[in-house]
Amino acid sequence: MRIDIITLFPEMCEAVLSESIIGRARKSGAVEIVCHQLRDFAFDKHRRVDDAPYGGGMGMLMMAEPIALCFESICEELGTRPHFVYMSPKGRVINQQVVREMSQTYENVCILCGHYEGVDQRVLDTLVDEELSIGDYVLTGGELPAVVFADALCRMLPGVLSSDECFELESHYGGLLEYPQYTRPEVWRGETVPSVLMSGHHANIEKWRREQAICETARLRPDMLESANLTDKEKVFLKGIMAEDNTSSDT
Ligand code: SAM
Repeated sequence: MRIDIITLFPEMCEAVLSESIIGRARKSGAVEIVCHQLRDFAFDKHRRVDDAPYGGGMGMLMMAEPIALCFESICEELGTRPHFVYMSPKGRVINQQVVREMSQTYENVCILCGHYEGVDQRVLDTLVDEELSIGDYVLTGGELPAVVFADALCRMLPGVLSSDECFELESHYGGLLEYPQYTRPEVWRGETVPSVLMSGHHANIEKWRREQAICETARLRPDMLESANLTDKEKVFLKGIMAEDNTSSDT
C-alpha cells in the first residue's frame, strides 16, 4: 500500500511515521508513505493556502485550489486515483473494522489533514471520497488523526507485523478486548501471575485467555458484547460472570 498525506506540517507526520514498527515497515518496503507540503501548491508569493469564510465567522478556511492541485499531482505521479480521505471530526468514527476493510480494499490511500476551521466544502463535495474521524472531540489539526489512521492501516498490511496473529488476537479485531498479559518476574510486589499461565498446558491457557477476554470486555466495554461472536458455551460463561457481578454489587 502507498499512503500519501497532504498537510501543512509534513515534518509532524514524518516524525511519528519514521519511528519504530512503521519506520521499519517503510524501510523494508512493506508500505510507502509520502507526506506532501500543501504550501508547495499555493499560487501566491506568500504561499497562502487559507482565506476567510464567506458569510463571516471565526477563523480561516483552507482554500480548494491548492488541495486540488496537490491531489491531482499525486494522481499523476501514481498513475491512478487513490482513495481520498479527509480527517474530520464530522466523519465516520474509525474502528478496527473500518481500518481492516480499508487495508484490504485500497492499494493507494490519500489523507487530507485539515487545519484552521477546516476546508472549503467544495473539496469535500467534488474530490474527497470519505470523511473519517478519530473520535467525538475536536483537535487543532488533522495531522494527529492522520498519523493515527496511517499507523492503524499499516499494521494490518502483510509484512508489517511478524505475523497476522499479532493483530488477530488483539483488542477489537475479533469483537472482544484482549486478555490480560504478564511478564517476568513471576511475583511482583506480592502480586502473582495466574497459575494457568505457568502450567505449560496450551489448551488450558487458550481457554483461560478466551474467558479472560470475555471478562475484560464485560468489565470495560460491555457495549461490545452484543455483537461479539461467542459460542453457546461462551454465552453461558458470560451469563455466569454477569450474574456473579450482579450478586456482588447487591451485597
Ligand atoms: N470547524 C471544524 C468543525 O467544527 O467540524 C473543526 C476544525 S478542526 C479545528 C481543524 C482540523 O483538525 C479539521 O479540519 C480536521 O482535519 C482535524 N480534526 C480535528 N478533530 C478531528 C477528529 N476528531 N478527527 C479527525 N480529524 C480531526
